[in-house]
Amino acid sequence: LLMKLLSMGMTGVHINTTLDADTAKILASEFGWEVEDLAKSEEESIAAARGEEAVAADTPDKSTDTNLITRPPVVTVMGHVDHGKTSLLDKIRSASVATGEAGGITQHIGAYRASTKHGPIVFLDTPGHEAFTAMRARGASVTDLIILVVAADDGVMPQTKEAVNHARAAKVPIIVAVNKIDKPGADTERVKRELVELGLQPEEWGGETIFVNVSAHTGAGIEQLLEMISIQSEVMDLKANPKKAASGTVLEALLDRGRGPVARVLVQDGTLRVGDFLLAGAGFGKVRAMTNEHGKQVHEAGPSTPVEILGLSEVPGAGDPMHAVKDPKKAQEIAESRKGKMARSLIPATAKVSLEEISKRMADSSQQELRVIVKGDVQGSVEAVADAFSKLSTDRVKLAIIHAGVGAITEGDINLAIAAKAIVIGFNVRPAGKASAHAEENKIEIRIYSIIYNAIEDVRNAMEGLLPPTL
Ligand code: GDP
Repeated sequence: LLMKLLSMGMTGVHINTTLDADTAKILASEFGWEVEDLAKSEEESIAAARGEEAVAADTPDKSTDTNLITRPPVVTVMGHVDHGKTSLLDKIRSASVATGEAGGITQHIGAYRASTKHGPIVFLDTPGHEAFTAMRARGASVTDLIILVVAADDGVMPQTKEAVNHARAAKVPIIVAVNKIDKPGADTERVKRELVELGLQPEEWGGETIFVNVSAHTGAGIEQLLEMISIQSEVMDLKANPKKAASGTVLEALLDRGRGPVARVLVQDGTLRVGDFLLAGAGFGKVRAMTNEHGKQVHEAGPSTPVEILGLSEVPGAGDPMHAVKDPKKAQEIAESRKGKMARSLIPATAKVSLEEISKRMADSSQQELRVIVKGDVQGSVEAVADAFSKLSTDRVKLAIIHAGVGAITEGDINLAIAAKAIVIGFNVRPAGKASAHAEENKIEIRIYSIIYNAIEDVRNAMEGLLPPTL
C-alpha cells in the first residue's frame, strides 16, 4: 500500500499515516476493491436524532410551511474602536428598560432582546468584528443586520473598512450610524463622502444604504435608528417556525464552579423548552434551567431569543450549532464524535489550550481519564502519536490529548500538565530550560520515546493500570 501511495505521488506517508476516505477509495480501487463510506454526515446524524428528514440548510421550503411567523432581527454593532459601539448598545438597552421592560438590571448573556416601539430587536452583546468573524469561522451565521458605527468627528478609520469588508463577505446588509453628532467637530457629510468611497452610497444620494445620525450620549437619532432596523428587517422578511424543535447557535459558554457548563445560546428557529434534550457542540444533556437577559427563569424560548441554559455535559464553543433532539442516545454519539474531532484538531503545532478548556475536561468525571501532552520533533510524528493515542480510548478509560505540538518540552507544557494532571510524552524531543526541574518539583511525569510502538504500549498499560480492579 505504501509503495502504491508513493507511486501515486503521495509524499510523507508511512505506516502510521491515516488516510482520508477519498484517498482510501482510490487506493483500494488500484487493487480492485471498493470502499464503502459508512460514516454518516453530521447533518444526517442530527436530523436522525431530531427525528426529521435531513434537508439542506439553504433550501428550507418556506413557501409551504404554514407555521412560519415573522421573527425579530438579530443585529451586530461594528465599527472602529472608540467610535461608540458600546455606548450605543448601552443607550439602546436603557431606552428599552425605560419603555417599561421588566427588571432594570440586565445580565450579560451574549445577546439582548430590546423591546422597542417597532417590536423586539436582538442585539449581540459583543460589538466588533472579532466576535463576528470568530462565529463565521465556525460556520455560524447569527447576524441579520450590521450597524456600522462611525464617529462623526473621526470619520472612516481602518477598522471601519474592515467591518465593511466582513459584512460584505458575509452578505449581511449594513445600516450606518453616524455617531457623536453632539460633538463640536462632528462632520456627518464628510463621513458620508468617505463611506461612498467604500461603496456605501447613502439613500439621499441615490444609493441604497441607510444612514442615521445619532448620539449615544444625548440619545438623538436612536429612535430613528431602531425604526430603520425594523424597516430593513421587514424588507428581509425574516421568518421562523416556533412549532419546531429548537435550533440555534452558541454565543458563548463557560464552566461555572457551582452550576457546571453554562451555555448562552441564541434560539434561531423553533422553540426551546426546559426539559428538552439538547446537543450543543461537544456537549449534550437535558435543559435543566433557562434564564433570560433579566436574570429571570423562563420555560421556553422562541425564535430570535437569547437564553442562558444549564444542563450540558460539556462546555461548547462559541459559534457551535445547537439543536434540540428527540433521541438522547444519538445526540450523545454526535457529541462524542465531535469531541474526538476536537481532540484531533488540537494537533496543529499552534494549538493553544486554555485553562478553561482543561477544566472542562476535568469536569467530566463520569469516566476515568488519562490525560497526555504530546510533543514531537516533526509534525508527522506528533500527528501519528496523537492519532494512535486517540484510538486507545475504551468505554471505561478515556485518553484525552490535552495538547499536542512540535518542539521541545517547555515550562509552559509542564504548567499545562500540572493544571490538567496530565503526563507529558516527548517523541524525539527533550525538556528544555527549567522544564525538567519544574516537572520534578511538581511530580509530573515526562516520558521520552523514539519508537511510536513503545509509546503506545506504555500508554495502553498505563490506561489499564488506571482501571479499578475487577471483582
Ligand atoms: P467603542 O470602543 O466603539 O465601544 O466605543 P465606546 O462606546 O467605548 O466609546 C468611546 C468613547 O466615546 C467613550 O468615552 C464614550 O463616552 C464616547 N462616546 C460614545 N458615543 C458618544 C457620543 O455620541 N457623543 C460623545 N460626545 N461621546 C461619545
